[in-house]
Amino acid sequence: MQINKHYQDIEETYLFSEVAERVRKFLASGAGTSVIKMGIGDVTRPICHAAVEALKSAAEEMGTEEGFHGYGPEQGYEFLRDEIAFYYERTSGVKLFADEIFVSDGAKSDLGNILDIFGNDNVVAVTDPVYPVYVDTNVMAGRKIIKLQANFENGFLPMPSEDLEADIIYLCSPNNPTGAAYTKAQLQEWVDFANSRGSVILFDAAYESFISDEDVPRSIYQIEGARSCAIEFCSFSKTAGFTGLRCGYTIVPAGLVRDGVQLRKMWLRRQTTKFNGVSYPIQRAAQACLREQGHAEILENIAYYKENAKVMAETFEELGWPYTGGKNSPYLWVKCPYDMKSWEFFDVLLQKANVVSTPGSGFGECGEGYVRFTAFNTHENTIEAMKRIREIDSK
Ligand code: PLP
Repeated sequence: MQINKHYQDIEETYLFSEVAERVRKFLASGAGTSVIKMGIGDVTRPICHAAVEALKSAAEEMGTEEGFHGYGPEQGYEFLRDEIAFYYERTSGVKLFADEIFVSDGAKSDLGNILDIFGNDNVVAVTDPVYPVYVDTNVMAGRKIIKLQANFENGFLPMPSEDLEADIIYLCSPNNPTGAAYTKAQLQEWVDFANSRGSVILFDAAYESFISDEDVPRSIYQIEGARSCAIEFCSFSKTAGFTGLRCGYTIVPAGLVRDGVQLRKMWLRRQTTKFNGVSYPIQRAAQACLREQGHAEILENIAYYKENAKVMAETFEELGWPYTGGKNSPYLWVKCPYDMKSWEFFDVLLQKANVVSTPGSGFGECGEGYVRFTAFNTHENTIEAMKRIREIDSK
């Protein structure tokens, strides 16, 4: 018997447990009373009314002979795939076929599971700092990983270079953790690069609904040539507050072929073999969020978070602290003042302002010297946290 030894190569991450431990100790010391968490990576607004009504009515249906649903289609119910296709056409002008859309229990599972269809000898490129799932899932399979540095010089948006030899390329735009987002022209370069090399781009669009800038694409399929080189992952988690309900989707275009095989067919085979679909009530709730009333309601929640992001951005500008994000994303990536390291600045913010951030070093070596703030809190807490931060800076 052999275990998968690659698991021993996964770096332990103590990021969030260490944050929690430092906060616990600080509170236990009696030095502060009201800590404000500005590092929350989860949404906090309740799901919209339309989703609640859809969940209730689907549950009622399930209790009737006519409305009972057993196993659903592994790829997702047609009503939801059609609604997603319609949403793409409306919001980004992208035309998708329902059989290119695969509904799942969230983007994280799909981002990991998609690797089943790729050989282990492929070389992978990720950005640094990075959403850790891209790295760990490839370490588990023993793939070689190249890290592309994201820094102030490149606007936290690494671009392809002639000598980059990568078969699988992860792009997350708008980005977690930096909040930076690729423009159309920049994504075009990546798409051209992938097509010329035969690489596959895994495009994580989990934060597409936060985009404000006109020239930032919501979908990679707004870029010419993307249908022959990119798989897109998206989720209702941040768009509609579904982190606790679980629903996402992955798009594998029919035109994406490698080694003479349609990747769409491989993914279908993978899903029908290892996945039994998302529950009927959750898919009905997801559908409701993309329809007129639900969509208007979820946009209100996004606007709420974006208002918080604006308050934070204004504060950092006022303080003269360099930052990215906040405009097309719920994340703000802030350079620690006075050349402090991430954990040092984390401690200063905790002890002097009683504000909790997330140390950037937890997202990769290039994250050292930065902290991440998120917009997932109430207006009141955000305003209060920024007031306290201004006060420590003036001391
Ligand atoms: N992709 C990115 C960049 C994320 O930040 C997250 C969640 O934080 C996910 C994917 C996971 O989303 P889901 O809740 O759909 O699994």
